[in-house]
Amino acid sequence: MSNNDNRNFVEQIADIDTDFPKWYTDVVIKTQLVDYGPVKGTMVIRPYGYAIWENIQRELDKRFKATGHKNAYFPLLIPMSFFTKEAEHVEGFAPEVAVVTHAGGEELAEPLAIRPTSETIIGNMYSKWIQSYRDLPVLINQWANVMRWEKTTRPFLRTSEFLWQEGHTAHATEEEAMDETMKMLGVYKEFAENCLAIPVICGRKTEKEKFAGAVATFGMEAMMKDGKSLQAGTSHYLGQNFAKAFEIKFLDKDGVQKYAYTSSWGVSTRLIGALIMAHGDRRGLVIPPVVAPVQAVIVPIAAKKGGVMEACRKIKCDLESAGVRVELDDSDSSPGWKFNEWEMRGVPVRIEVGPRDLEAGKVVLFRRDTCAKDAYSLENIVAEVGALLNSVQKDMLECARARRDARIVDADTLEELLKGVDAGKFVRAGWCGCRECEDAVKAQTAATARVFAEENTHEKCVVCGKPAKHSVFFARAY
Ligand code: ZN
Repeated sequence: MSNNDNRNFVEQIADIDTDFPKWYTDVVIKTQLVDYGPVKGTMVIRPYGYAIWENIQRELDKRFKATGHKNAYFPLLIPMSFFTKEAEHVEGFAPEVAVVTHAGGEELAEPLAIRPTSETIIGNMYSKWIQSYRDLPVLINQWANVMRWEKTTRPFLRTSEFLWQEGHTAHATEEEAMDETMKMLGVYKEFAENCLAIPVICGRKTEKEKFAGAVATFGMEAMMKDGKSLQAGTSHYLGQNFAKAFEIKFLDKDGVQKYAYTSSWGVSTRLIGALIMAHGDRRGLVIPPVVAPVQAVIVPIAAKKGGVMEACRKIKCDLESAGVRVELDDSDSSPGWKFNEWEMRGVPVRIEVGPRDLEAGKVVLFRRDTCAKDAYSLENIVAEVGALLNSVQKDMLECARARRDARIVDADTLEELLKGVDAGKFVRAGWCGCRECEDAVKAQTAATARVFAEENTHEKCVVCGKPAKHSVFFARAY
């Protein structure tokens, strides 16, 4: 490959160290993950981006079903009156709700909301379906789109319409609903770490940051390469708030009518944004093998030389049989151009097949995460590629974990907290629990309370100096 090829190519995306936001935009557009939709704030998820989403869906769906959930589908349109039934919920979502007022050439008697989330419509249905303790628990998940009108938008991170899943469960007791809330947070964490190779910090959110209508929200936070946090998923314990608003009642074993306890939990196409910003580098995307649309790409070197294309086709066939998602790039671009293209697109493993290596019974394998390459025996190529994909998956998580852990610091004062977040760190600090102090942190550092740490390791609130009720992870966030 010529150096020229390389330079021209890398120049297409902004420098990750000096202009992270531009780097992100360049990467998502140029690797054809997304394009902008004609309506401001909307995105088109292109095939390469959608394939990542399909892999995410497959992995999560498997886990939801293994924990006893079933999929269903609820309508996109929700009567506006449903929103007014839960006071906090309506207040929280009102500014973002898109409303349909006309249809069939007439003004509608009651305006209809395009779902920003489905607690209300599902609560309405559960009140019909749940009559007795025998009907509980109800464990349903929905894969759907939702709409939240946003003022500033960025592909995958914040768009007016996005794809997600939302689990909605109803239980006879508080304990069961709380167990469910924590169980699904655990499912998300295991998925984020083992499939997306993203280490996450899980914990409870403050009142200010919780879901509108929840008793308690638990989130998982991931560190991006610029040191900012991204909320990658949430699980809500809803108590009896929605049960009371929608009359989800059941006759218990003791003959008494009781309100059910509910939970809801969701992750969205935001996860694609998370994996881009957690792993990407100056060359572009680095996609973990479990969710990579293409896990290995074969690039012929000197394709016209005897045996090269035949060997490439055989490798492709063998890998496909072994269940590897593999592509053979037989276009007429130069090998150097292809290397850059597939590196930018984040394909975990590249297989270079050249006449000289073939004569020696070898091919070259390149791994995208470390950009290291080595010659391997052609005879064992299927096993070698499989082992390399496993290593890449595992090493990406360890590498991201080490990077994150090196960027977690503690602070005792607001000055220290500011210094930390300015340097792209997660800052753990004490908090007295009052809203004024939480607001003061945000006003003075632009950082927000992400989640509570498991243990309180601070004596004093970082703002007011009163006794700390919690240690909190503060960070600037997407
Ligand atoms: Zn305080």
